Amino acid sequence: MYLVADIDVDICAATSCKLCTQYCPEANTINYDDNAGKDKGHKYGSAYVAVDRCKGCAQCVWVCDNMAKHHAIKMTMIDQLPKAAITDRITYLDKGTKAIAAPVEVA
Ligand code: SF4
Ligand code: SF4
Repeated sequence: MYLVADIDVDICAATSCKLCTQYCPEANTINYDDNAGKDKGHKYGSAYVAVDRCKGCAQCVWVCDNMAKHHAIKMTMIDQLPKAAITDRITYLDKGTKAIAAPVEVA
């Protein structure tokens, strides 16, 4: 098990900053979904992390805390995520789903 970035949709979707997506050193790892959070009545979408690409550097946490001042990202053990997205199936998975930590084919 290892730590990956986890974004709180309720906090992120209250903004539209997208700042963290510009600083992650891994390509296609922090993405932005214009519709995430809309079902909860949020005005904007939310950033999310493709956990199979996240290398746990926590740079996005620093950016969100210190540059954006939104404190929406926490490093979380991968098996403790409430939901997760992986690269080749950009779909949120339920907590405890084995597929989160299972090997995935990355195009
Ligand atoms: S920096 Fe924080 S608030 Fe801004 S898009 Fe990223 S997670 Fe959301
Ligand atoms: S922890 Fe590092 S690799 Fe993972 S999403 Fe954040 S900036 Fe990208």
